[in-house]
Amino acid sequence: MQEEVRIQASASVADRFKQLKALTVDLAFYNPEGVTRTSQIKYSVNIANAKSAFSFSCPNNECVRGDFDLSAPLAKAVATKKKSVAGEMCCQGWRTKTSIDTVRCANILRYKLTLGY
Ligand SMILES: [Zn+2]
Repeated sequence: MQEEVRIQASASVADRFKQLKALTVDLAFYNPEGVTRTSQIKYSVNIANAKSAFSFSCPNNECVRGDFDLSAPLAKAVATKKKSVAGEMCCQGWRTKTSIDTVRCANILRYKLTLGY
């Protein structure tokens, strides 16, 4: 809920990064071992509407407090005028409600951002 408020309160991508004209995200989610791809999405971001607190929820429905926040890699890419950046991120949430403080979710996101200026 708090997270939702923070995201809604953030400026749009277009407002925060005025030099950015286009943004495509390519997201592939993997299980914690990084071997099995559980889902993949690729789309052009509507930068006028997308929020600059740029995060994606974890594909694990039972995940507690996990998400993948690409705000920092996005900001860094724009600041350095990169045309594309790729990276990997590990979910820091808890795997299920009953594993809080014991087992991390640890799902893996491999992302690629393609930026146009
Ligand atoms: Zn997770």
